[in-house]
Amino acid sequence: MYDVIVIGAGPAGCSAAKALADGGKSVLLVEKFPLPRYKSCSGILIKKTMELTERYFGEPVPETALCLPVENRGMIFTNDSGKELRFEQEGRNVWRADYDSWLARKAVSAGAELRDNTAALECCEFPDYIEVKLRGKALYSEKARYVIDCEGVVGAFKRKFTKCSAEYITTFQTFNMGEISLDPHYFYAYLQPELSEYDAWFNVKDDMLVLGVSVKDSSKTGEYYANFLEYM
Ligand SMILES: Cc1cc2nc3c(=O)[nH]c(=O)nc-3n(C[C@H](O)[C@H](O)[C@H](O)COP(=O)(O)OP(=O)(O)OC[C@H]3O[C@@H](n4cnc5c(N)ncnc54)[C@H](O)[C@@H]3O)c2cc1C
Repeated sequence: MYDVIVIGAGPAGCSAAKALADGGKSVLLVEKFPLPRYKSCSGILIKKTMELTERYFGEPVPETALCLPVENRGMIFTNDSGKELRFEQEGRNVWRADYDSWLARKAVSAGAELRDNTAALECCEFPDYIEVKLRGKALYSEKARYVIDCEGVVGAFKRKFTKCSAEYITTFQTFNMGEISLDPHYFYAYLQPELSEYDAWFNVKDDMLVLGVSVKDSSKTGEYYANFLEYM
């Protein structure tokens, strides 16, 4: 039996697994995808994230996770009436697959056991332990005193326990070759209602121009994305 089973090897799960393993607890970290796994994300680490990475993982964000331009200098928002607002702040530009894999490896170095390609399907509570049903190459169970749910925003367990219905925002982004007259060191967010139902964004990763929109009604993704392309 483990002290703790952590479900999900994103930044939350890896941080929990690492901190618990550092504290001498036996930890099983399960991740449903094979690592490194893709995560839809702009991969901009703000100053606070850089500080938390160093505090909890003992090292600065590693070079192996960085992409170009390495330095992010802040965000430029265009508000719903078209006014531009700038927020200057030191940050880093990473590929999440590489950053998250590094976090997971640090948790393993601290003593956590990692099983990727392994989905947690169900938790059953007994007086002295929790049984977690897992699907790896086969279906099986593991026991732990505690379970920490770090499944991320689409987590099924959270919905089961809180009985909340899922209200998703769909995000859609494309990676393009080309040129644009915007500063690649900044993350640009556009809040005009004709461009998205939440925000639309632009940033640069390595030699690619990333353009994305987020919508509440996913059937409108194409329409909003076309408006955003036209605007850009
Ligand atoms: C389009 C987009 C852009 C973003 N850009 C930024 C940005 O630039 N900077 C920033 O700081 N944040 C950004 N975010 C937010 C950021 O991605 C999240 O805040 C962050 O990933 C949350 O970390 P987490 O560990 O809670 O969850 P996640 O990173 O989602 O990790 C959860 C993990 O749990 C695994 N999992 C889920 N269910 C199970 C299960 N049943 N069994 C086993 N494993 C499971 C998943 O596969 C996943 O690996 C962005 C988000 C989106 C959608």
